[in-house]
Amino acid sequence: MRDKLLKETTRIVIKIGSSLVASRDTGLRPEQIDRLADEIAALRSSGREILIVSSGAIVSGIKKLGLKEYPKSLPVKQAAAAVGQSRLMWAYEKSFERVDVKVAQILLTHQDLADRRRFLNARHTLTALIGFGVIPIINENDTVAVDEIRVGDNDTLAAEVAHLVDAELLIILSDIDGLFTEDPRKNPTATLIPLIPEITQEIEERAGVSTTFEGTGGMATKIRAAKKVSEYGVATLILHGKKPGLLPQVLAGGPGGSLFLAKERRFTSRKHWIAFTLRPRGTLTLDPGAVEALAMRGKSLLASGILNVGGSFESGDAVGCLDQEGREFAKGLVNFSSDTLARIKGLKTTEIQQQLGPQEYEEVIHRDNLVIL
Ligand code: GLU
Repeated sequence: MRDKLLKETTRIVIKIGSSLVASRDTGLRPEQIDRLADEIAALRSSGREILIVSSGAIVSGIKKLGLKEYPKSLPVKQAAAAVGQSRLMWAYEKSFERVDVKVAQILLTHQDLADRRRFLNARHTLTALIGFGVIPIINENDTVAVDEIRVGDNDTLAAEVAHLVDAELLIILSDIDGLFTEDPRKNPTATLIPLIPEITQEIEERAGVSTTFEGTGGMATKIRAAKKVSEYGVATLILHGKKPGLLPQVLAGGPGGSLFLAKERRFTSRKHWIAFTLRPRGTLTLDPGAVEALAMRGKSLLASGILNVGGSFESGDAVGCLDQEGREFAKGLVNFSSDTLARIKGLKTTEIQQQLGPQEYEEVIHRDNLVIL
């Protein structure tokens, strides 16, 4: 099953971690970038469609600016990213030119993904690039991204991109071999798990407690990324990126890395976007009748079922729907602001009209904009 899946996938997002392409002491690692470009170009020649999400801008910029240590202040980090990003792209340009492959730079922030029009626009651009046989090289737009609009890490960004372009496989290349049965540094008999049918709570917890469980680098963001895309029918392969020949070997069906299988796709792209890309701006606590109507009977949310409004949001924002125990069981786009909802919660439609006058919408969250998690 693993072999077949890896051999037959066409559209692949490959995430390349900072440590593969840059180091703080030496700056960029052109020899690694050349090797990755060779291997990726060969995959493309064999009919695969590849998109790259590459880190390394900040680390490369630190070296170029001659900074002694990793910057703490945001503007300095952003300056390093700006300097490093052009250097990073220049290195990719040169490496891929050797093997006659065109590349393109795409820089994204969370805001580009959270706005549905911009999201779809990015999708169209990436699809057009793939149509031209170009390999898009994507990074977070670190230079302008402050906390509220940051994706935050490139494992997550790569997961967003995999959804954006409807990829079949996400490959996370870093300096870890994959998921082990136990911490391999504590227990030498620990073995690499080649196939993970489902990301269980135990796997998530194990990855969450120790960032060094599988070697270096954070496993938690990788498992989270794998989980996110699995809900959209995308499999994830975690693979060591510094071992020459490993990537083509594994995609030809050979051993190496850990493959996390996808689930059956539960949501349309739009609903997946509501569920996994948008960040909730607030919460609505619902009475048991409303919880049942949403979760079991496929209904829209009306104001009469709302007990409490949390946070501050505008009409069109995403909010989480909670049951009385505080569990988030649904997410959706609201038609009213938090201020308005605080006034009309618990009221029937006729009472709302008395309060607010005629309204464009009756539903607080329309069914089409609601996802049961
Ligand atoms: N965007 C950052 C960079 O290019 C890396 C973020 C990450 O590695 O997760 O330096």
